[in-house]
Amino acid sequence: MMTRREAIKTVALTAGALSLAPSLLRGQTVQKLTYPYKVPPLGYSYDALEPHIDTLTMQIHHDKHHGAYVENLNKALASADPKFQQLSLEELLTGLDQIPENIRTTVRNNAGGHYNHSLFWLTLKKNEGGKPTGELADAINKKFSSFDDFKKKMSETSAKVFGSGWGWLVLNGKELDIASTPNQDSPISKRQVPLLGIDVWEHSYYLKHQNRRPNYIEAFWSVVNWDFVGERYKAALA
Ligand code: MN
Repeated sequence: MMTRREAIKTVALTAGALSLAPSLLRGQTVQKLTYPYKVPPLGYSYDALEPHIDTLTMQIHHDKHHGAYVENLNKALASADPKFQQLSLEELLTGLDQIPENIRTTVRNNAGGHYNHSLFWLTLKKNEGGKPTGELADAINKKFSSFDDFKKKMSETSAKVFGSGWGWLVLNGKELDIASTPNQDSPISKRQVPLLGIDVWEHSYYLKHQNRRPNYIEAFWSVVNWDFVGERYKAALA
């Protein structure tokens, strides 16, 4: 049982997380992310990203891998105090230290997996030669000198992730930055807004590229929905 003092502390921390959370997915077409969680529909066909990301990889990645994160997250929350079922996905991930220890790692991995993949599907669209435009393009040029320099740096960071994880373009305060996270850790747990992530788990490329992660990363640049990422950047800054 939680003491009254601990309960007050939890409420205060949750309120802090709440004030941050609305900015994370604002202006984006994500269905409301609350328990019981569901895998959001892809929004395009499994073969829409061919030949850069193959149909079978998309099917297994979306239905099975993302599906498993959602199932495991729901199972963990079903076993916990119902008040944790009331928190949004963003609140879970920005307040991991409030989650009971017996489910904390499970929530960290699977809430992170759900959030990261929900964003990932939205950022993808066949878009060969596509580049950011408008305010995002200006901010990338200012921070990284040029789009090509940015692409090179994010590709290198993503290629270097040891084992499973993600390479990210994030908003850190008002500044763009490139980051990586291990496993399914999400930048939002570090109070950064993920704008674009490259999933470098082997499940995202092994069927087509086997061990050649850099080939997959190169192919990834042909399927970035820069309109979505640009809108997300503007929404996160607002
Ligand atoms: Mn994945």
